[in-house]
Amino acid sequence: MSPCRTALIYSPLFGTFNYGENHPFKLQRNRLAYDLMAAYGLLELPQMQIHDCLPASDELLLSFHDHAYIARLKEFSVSEEARADFRFGLGDAECPVFPGLYDYAALGAGATFEAVRLVEEEGFDAAFNMHGGWHHAHRSKASGFSYLNDAAVAINWLVARGRRVLYLDIDAHHGDGVQEAFYNTDQVLTISLHESGIYFYPGTGFESEIGEGRGKGYSVNVPLLAHTDDAIYMKAFDEVVYPLIAAFNPDMIVTQIGADTFRTDPLTNLEITTHSYREMMVKIQRLKIPWVALGGGGYDLMNTARAWTLAWSIMNNVELDPRLPPAFIDKIEPLGYQNRVLLDAMHWADEGERTLALTAVEKSIARIKKTIFPGILGSHGYASL
Ligand SMILES: [Zn+2]
Repeated sequence: MSPCRTALIYSPLFGTFNYGENHPFKLQRNRLAYDLMAAYGLLELPQMQIHDCLPASDELLLSFHDHAYIARLKEFSVSEEARADFRFGLGDAECPVFPGLYDYAALGAGATFEAVRLVEEEGFDAAFNMHGGWHHAHRSKASGFSYLNDAAVAINWLVARGRRVLYLDIDAHHGDGVQEAFYNTDQVLTISLHESGIYFYPGTGFESEIGEGRGKGYSVNVPLLAHTDDAIYMKAFDEVVYPLIAAFNPDMIVTQIGADTFRTDPLTNLEITTHSYREMMVKIQRLKIPWVALGGGGYDLMNTARAWTLAWSIMNNVELDPRLPPAFIDKIEPLGYQNRVLLDAMHWADEGERTLALTAVEKSIARIKKTIFPGILGSHGYASL
């Protein structure tokens, strides 16, 4: 096996921002993830480099975002007084205005751009920006803790270079902003698995959203019901997602690997564990497609740290001890974390509760096989050459 080269994007500036004490998005989860990676020796691997980054340029941001929106973000970011503009989604409890907001968001977008650039221009096999994945940011509106759509602008740069990209979003919420960015093109296949929009933010991501114009058949949505567990999730991944990735065979795969799908997440109702999360990462890695991973949601901080440590180890082809390192356990115990293992046992939701979720996913899979598969895999379910 040829040696792989990987990059972890990290700026010390990330630790200097704060959404506010009462906001569910906590930057310390990334600190926990770095600590766990360090405890496993994953920050000193011979094949990896840690790369700093710069804020994304205006030119890059304007490839997706509206000029007036960017101007407003910049203005609010340096304002001494509390500011809000609800036309742009700015200043509510979900997307608060805080000092340095623009610098924070532009740095996250710059980090994702750097990850993509290293893979595209410098031949890295994989790169990870856990400060990215702001998939709810719209062209001219902040939403769902997201201000600038880092994935959309970085993928735009790849598209302008003629690349075909697959964007896979396994966050518990629909990747609505990224879908919107590529709804009319066949150069980017977007796939999102998420908790159903029937009752859940952002209220979109149904199987009927398949793209428009040249993009028809290139937006894929797998809505999932509450109590979707490891087995149900992997059924969707194996029957829909994996064959589509293989058949589309992109130049690069960009994954948003939010960890708010976990059964302990306080904001969501899905029930997966590191068991299926690991399996997905391994399968993606085996395809040997140049790979950029972005963070995203994750509000059970320890589970997010475990998930992203696993992802980074798999990007580096390193098999980890399924037990957490003792020194790390000593560190997290006083903070109230009970975790002892990295790998959870495969989890099954209660029989009564999982039946609805299973029936729903079977319907979704059947529908996607009808609407999406013929265009990408051919009418018999095989990739057309
Ligand atoms: Zn989410």
